[in-house]
Amino acid sequence: MAAQTPARADILIRNGRLYDGTGNTWTLGDVAVRAGRIVAVGRLPAGYPADTVLDAHGLAVAPGFIDVHTHIEDDEVRQPTADNFLLDGVTTVVTGNCGSSRPDLRRYFRQLDSLHLSVNVASLVGQGTVRKAVMGRARRPATEAELQRMESLTDSAMRAGAVGLSSGLIYVPGTYTRPPELVRLARVAARYHGLYATHMRNESDSVRQAIQEALLIGREAGLPVQISHLKLGGQRNWGHAAELLQLIETARQQGQPVTIDQYPYTASSTSLSTLLPDDVQADGRDSLRARLARPATRRQVEQFLVQRLRSKGLRHFSYAVVASFPPDTSYHGRSLEEINRLRHRPHTARAEAATILDLVLQYDTGMVFHGMSEPDVQTIMRYPQNMVASDASIRVWREGAPHPRGYGSNARVLGHYVRELRVITLEEAIRRMTSLPAQTFGFTSRGLLRPGFAADIVVFDPATVADKSTFTQPHQYSVGMRYVLVNGRLTVREGQHTGQRAGQVLYGPGKQ
Ligand SMILES: [Zn+2]
Repeated sequence: MAAQTPARADILIRNGRLYDGTGNTWTLGDVAVRAGRIVAVGRLPAGYPADTVLDAHGLAVAPGFIDVHTHIEDDEVRQPTADNFLLDGVTTVVTGNCGSSRPDLRRYFRQLDSLHLSVNVASLVGQGTVRKAVMGRARRPATEAELQRMESLTDSAMRAGAVGLSSGLIYVPGTYTRPPELVRLARVAARYHGLYATHMRNESDSVRQAIQEALLIGREAGLPVQISHLKLGGQRNWGHAAELLQLIETARQQGQPVTIDQYPYTASSTSLSTLLPDDVQADGRDSLRARLARPATRRQVEQFLVQRLRSKGLRHFSYAVVASFPPDTSYHGRSLEEINRLRHRPHTARAEAATILDLVLQYDTGMVFHGMSEPDVQTIMRYPQNMVASDASIRVWREGAPHPRGYGSNARVLGHYVRELRVITLEEAIRRMTSLPAQTFGFTSRGLLRPGFAADIVVFDPATVADKSTFTQPHQYSVGMRYVLVNGRLTVREGQHTGQRAGQVLYGPGKQ
């Protein structure tokens, strides 16, 4: 008896190497997609009916990549097609990281629905955002009444569909928040099966204590911990990545769910103000301005900056490069050492420190900091519980000199680290980009090539996939992503964005 003819597929991907996202070795086969879902996977019959057939001969077919650490707020409005993510194979982003999210997530999700982005979006609720809403930038512990208000804001964010709580403990007001306060809010996220994602209090000299703090919060609040962009900054800390992973692995062996993410570069990127001592930043920009207007305070802060530089074994701020400074875009891509020279100031660390304060007071300057070692990056990359994440926003074409991670993180892992350096296998890299983040963040029907799962699919050429974005020429898309489907819609075709905008909001389990 002849088999029943299957229902017509919208898209049929033929003859690909199927990397199903589990980390298992690839198999040859086809994937059929209908109404936004994967309906069949494997060797499908020759006459399988389909509207569109994509030939994937020689190509890898994988679940769409999930980037668990992004900051898309504001740029999603300007560039809803999210080209940098799509052309890097990313079909889902998690935003609201590092303690900073939209304050009203219910409203934000409605806004995302009406914007129709090309990527799926989930959000964390930011501890810094919640604290600012209740206490501003006050540098003191919360009172019990304030704590209860913060719990209530966290509770409504979780019911709006946040996937967990994020913290950014190098940023004001995260710097002013002690563990007991974090535990109180993390417990609220735990009630709704959210996780705790943290940009830790330190990523250089005190990174071990910072990991212990993250683990403590996870244990006390009873929820999984995601350590964001694990790294070792500062030359004197280099070479200790294995120790950090051992702390994490030991916690896992004791039954604590802990995972990490990483962007595959030896430079970080954040705001210039993170170099300042945290006390001068209390109570907002006007207070900062007032404090730095006092010559004695200004002198102390300059000395602090110089000492911090010396403690890194450096003589100049050449490792710190401006990414975004709208008041003078000619600074983009230049180091603080160069900018200080351009301003005809003495070639001393002290004068550079003064230049830093001038920039900080003028604008919240975005920076790239070159401060990690390549062997540490690779050691962290080998860790099986590590996901690839960009820590980037949606890139607006040709704007600023941003860190290349926003364009090339996934392609860089697949091309440079998998194909060229063989740091991990292709199967393993894909697992870290798909099922591991899906499982960790609770995207239950994504991250695998399985019938019934959402049809987020990337078809790429493993022989040519590569990142093109560099620190000096960041505005370049990755190459090699031949087709990308988001919820069954062809969003990249022959390496070009089609303009399709089929992304959805992905809600956490607390959604009511
Ligand atoms: Zn961060």
